[in-house]
Amino acid sequence: MTAASASATASAAAPILRLALLALLVLVAPLAAWIAADQVTDAALSDLRTEAQTDLALYRGNLLGELDRQRAVPLVLADDAEIRALLQAPQDPALAARVNRRLEAIAGRLQLSALYLMDARGTTVAADNWNHDPSFVGQNFGYRPYFQAALAGRPGLHFALGVTSHVPGYYIAYPVRPAPPLGVAAESLPVIGVVVVKIGLDDLERHWRPGENAVVVADGDGVIVLANRPSWRFHTLAPLAPAEHERIIASQRYPGEPLEPLPLVAAAGGASDELVVREEMPREAESAIHAVRYLVSRAPVPGTDLQLVLLLRTEPARLRTTNAGLIAGFSALLLGFGILYLVERRGIERQRRASQQRARQELEAQVALRTADLTAANLRLRREMTERERAEEGRRAAQNELVQAAKLAALGELSAGIAHEINQPLAAMRSFADNGVTLLERGQSAAARANLEQIADLTERLAGITRQLKSFARQASGTLEPVAVVPALNAALALVAVRLRQEGVTVERHLPPGEAPWAVGEAVRLQQVLINLICNALDAMRDRPRRQLTLIVRCDRDEDGGQVQLAVADSGCGIAEADLPQLFQRFFTTKGREQGLGLGLSISYGIVRDFGGTLEAANRPEGGAVFTLTLKRAPGPAPEAAATRTLRP
Ligand code: ADP
Repeated sequence: MTAASASATASAAAPILRLALLALLVLVAPLAAWIAADQVTDAALSDLRTEAQTDLALYRGNLLGELDRQRAVPLVLADDAEIRALLQAPQDPALAARVNRRLEAIAGRLQLSALYLMDARGTTVAADNWNHDPSFVGQNFGYRPYFQAALAGRPGLHFALGVTSHVPGYYIAYPVRPAPPLGVAAESLPVIGVVVVKIGLDDLERHWRPGENAVVVADGDGVIVLANRPSWRFHTLAPLAPAEHERIIASQRYPGEPLEPLPLVAAAGGASDELVVREEMPREAESAIHAVRYLVSRAPVPGTDLQLVLLLRTEPARLRTTNAGLIAGFSALLLGFGILYLVERRGIERQRRASQQRARQELEAQVALRTADLTAANLRLRREMTERERAEEGRRAAQNELVQAAKLAALGELSAGIAHEINQPLAAMRSFADNGVTLLERGQSAAARANLEQIADLTERLAGITRQLKSFARQASGTLEPVAVVPALNAALALVAVRLRQEGVTVERHLPPGEAPWAVGEAVRLQQVLINLICNALDAMRDRPRRQLTLIVRCDRDEDGGQVQLAVADSGCGIAEADLPQLFQRFFTTKGREQGLGLGLSISYGIVRDFGGTLEAANRPEGGAVFTLTLKRAPGPAPEAAATRTLRP
């Protein structure tokens, strides 16, 4: 599979993956919230139960402490001789008064709510409030369950409202029996009276501060007798059966109280020990009734028929639950969106990479195309260069041939003079030879020898002329080298010497004092240029009365190493102003087809340019023309090398 098709498949799969993830998110987020909430609920309710058990133990401890403190009082009094005596002689006013005062004193010291003595019919015979109005003394409480229990020989314990005082309290009643004779068990004797103590628990209740949680004490029938919510007092934890209700009313334990059940219902969807109470909010409008969920914990109070009930509000725990659920849900959502984001980013990254690869491939294709173009252009250029080089070579060869041809033409021009130059020594040699023969015939060998020596000298001169011709006629080397300027000038002059002599030209030379300048060039071609310039000067002076050729050699020094200037000036006709611009063009001549080809100056110009120099023409103010040759100065050779490199004229 190619990278492009792989990325296409991946991008087609991406929306499906995205949809699947979204669907999963929709399912997973609430599930996570529900699981988290469930877990946290269990944990929170368990915490709440532990807290309830701790609180219950505390409340029970307080309550038991309060009850146990007073429980001994009736037990001790039931065994008291004076109490027994009063029960056996209830008409004794002095005894009754003593017992009344004792009960008053004990109740005062122990801060009891009430302390009194009843006879076997339930009529009070002595009480701590004997001197109050109303007083218990003379009143019959025989209907009270605590009395009935004590009369039956059992301790009577129960919570009730005071019939006269309406003050709630816990009643503890003990039976009083006559002092048992020796060997007789006290329990076998009849009950002659009952001692009752009433403990007020309002102090305890006051310490139960009202708050969010409710703490209540209910009696054996489920009637709330103590509560940190006053409105709950004398309500029942559960609805009473009609018979029960009747029995409680008959006992006058809670006279005037309706004993209605608290509006408690089992909490729907809650824990088994969770209840909902439709509660009336204190200090708010009547309509402010709302349902509050409580966790209910119960604990019996040992030694009594009471039970402690603690109701802890579950709202805070449930709020934690909701928060945990929300956090879990959001976390799941966040995680899901995180994964979605990553999937999305991976997709984008993949697309980016694919487009980068595409761009790279396009670029590579373009580069390959351009490279092919460039290679073709390069090839074309190389071919053109080769052609040009070939053409240049051809041009140079043609130029060389032209130079050579011009040189031979110059030689041809000079040949008459040269022939004359050669003829003279030849004629002299002839006459020396003839004379030599004559002298030998006469036997004058010494004179004949002198003649032969003359002939040898003349051959030497002839050899000099031919050497110059040979050197001039040879092909130029084509390479640049240092050339001694003055010897080159002399060689040129030597070649035109016959013409100079024949045409009566005076030659004036101005050379730099004490210097033998060297220039960059090539000896043969430099001679050719000079011969050309001198011959042109001779041509220009042919019809002039005064014929003077002036040759000037100058050396200039500048920072580039200096120049050598060679001026060929004549006293000829000069150059017409109109001809000056075209003087160096090929085939320009003013001499007519028989005498001039118009190539000399153009060839000379080319040679000088090849040397890196210049050739300029001008008219002299005094008449005649001057051609100035400027060449780069070359360093002279080392003294020993100079001998070998100096061109011989
Ligand atoms: P050619 O000598 O065959 O005419 P050149 O190229 O040597 O060709 O010279 C071109 C022309 O330049 C000559 O015909 C002549 O008119 C002019 N010229 C050259 N040298 C001189 C000079 N010294 N004085 C006057 N005119 C000259």
